[in-house]
Amino acid sequence: SLSRFRNGPINKDRTVGGLLATSGFDDLSCLSRYRTAFYRKNIPHKPSRYLIQKLRAHESLQKRCGPGTNSYRKAVEQLRSGQRSNFDQDCNYLVWISYSGLGNRILTVASAFLYSLLTNRVLLIDRGKDMEDLFCEPFPETSWLLPLDFPLTNTLANFSITSPESYGNMIKNKVGVHKGNFIYLHLDHGYNDNDKLFFCEEDQKTIQNARWLMLRSDIYFVPSLFLNSLFKDELNQLFPERDAVFHHLGRYLFHPTNPVWGLITRYYDSYLAKADEIVGIQVRVFEIDPGPFRHVLDQIISCTQNEGLLPQIVEHEIGPPATKPKSKAVLFTSLNMGYYEHIRSMYWESPTSTGEIVSVYQPSYEGYQQSERNKHNRKAWAEMYLLSLTDKLVTSGWSTFGYVAQGLGGLKPWIMFRPENRTVPNPPCRRDMSMEPCFHSPPFYDCQKKKGIDTGKLVPHVRHCDDITWGIKLV
Ligand code: GDP
Repeated sequence: SLSRFRNGPINKDRTVGGLLATSGFDDLSCLSRYRTAFYRKNIPHKPSRYLIQKLRAHESLQKRCGPGTNSYRKAVEQLRSGQRSNFDQDCNYLVWISYSGLGNRILTVASAFLYSLLTNRVLLIDRGKDMEDLFCEPFPETSWLLPLDFPLTNTLANFSITSPESYGNMIKNKVGVHKGNFIYLHLDHGYNDNDKLFFCEEDQKTIQNARWLMLRSDIYFVPSLFLNSLFKDELNQLFPERDAVFHHLGRYLFHPTNPVWGLITRYYDSYLAKADEIVGIQVRVFEIDPGPFRHVLDQIISCTQNEGLLPQIVEHEIGPPATKPKSKAVLFTSLNMGYYEHIRSMYWESPTSTGEIVSVYQPSYEGYQQSERNKHNRKAWAEMYLLSLTDKLVTSGWSTFGYVAQGLGGLKPWIMFRPENRTVPNPPCRRDMSMEPCFHSPPFYDCQKKKGIDTGKLVPHVRHCDDITWGIKLV
């Protein structure tokens, strides 16, 4: 049978609840696209009919205005010349600039895509070092990759908070916006108050005048779009279940390329498929020394045991089990192998109080972050995806790597709080409020009253995050 899914009916939902278009793709060039269902449980969160319609409409926009079309050629000419001509009102563009760690990139592409959906813009992505190597094309019969001869290709990497083309600096210098301008949107965690005006209604109206927008971001800025009165009604219609935004957009957009899919499926089939339950543990330590650290190990053990995710160990062997013991597979991901090695030995050297069999695995231990290396990011992507296939997930607070896994998997994780002074936090972890990623550096500004405001307290569905108290997330 094709189904690798344990203990359950075969999931035959090739289109992921209607999210994916059924035609216009070459199946063999991207095996993962229609095969995730074999590995994923039937997840209860269904995309709304309205979201599905909107995606199909957006796909035709991408095709009609995308690379290789007349509209695209004209729009590029306009960008080169800076003329104000108004030829094809419908074809406007958002260029996503490749930047930051892989988890951050996945979250910002999803945010950029949602913004494109809301504003009817074609999303084009700068391929950077490895975007093309990691992700299949999401839109049928066109390409989302920014063509290599794009006039600003060599400039993209140099945009920064000081660029005169940034929206913040255009405001500061009182530069008007017309069709022939492009605007650089600096939505990086270190952005300034003028850049943050992006989130205000009046500024959005101005920004929409530009045919071309260039976006550089490392933050999941979706929650603030829900606070903007221009978008909020549409968003409520698109996502009646508000904490499933990244869940749906992520499964729509991010399909591992065949080499990455091979890493995922070979690992899953070899080590995880036969277990009764899979527990994922994502360990991300934000310290300068590589570790392993005793307090991190203690935190993992107390979190998983207090929360009943893994069994306690006992000193003496208990009698032979009456029934076949339950098997648990633990999937670790970490740059360091110390935590996995310790826990694996622990469950080898001692019996468990429940008689459960605990097998412990970790696909890689790369030592340190090497975001520019190809194979390294293939593994990082495969590991995020494998974590998303687990039944229960423990993540490290602050980490976008964990956010991607929880969102794709539809999993509300147990978040391990970030330790301070190298001590185990109390409690060591807590079940998260929702599966949505946290927006780490939101604006705290009331656009109407032009003064500071706590944006985590305005509406019940946008709350402060558990792991980063000043962050906000959809719940
Ligand atoms: P964040 O820094 O935790 O928010 O996550 P990012 O994904 O943005 O950046 C961390 C980068 O470090 C990843 O993209 C990987 O390159 C690497 N990395 C961190 N943790 C792991 C891990 O558990 N496994 C692998 N293979 N790479 C990791």
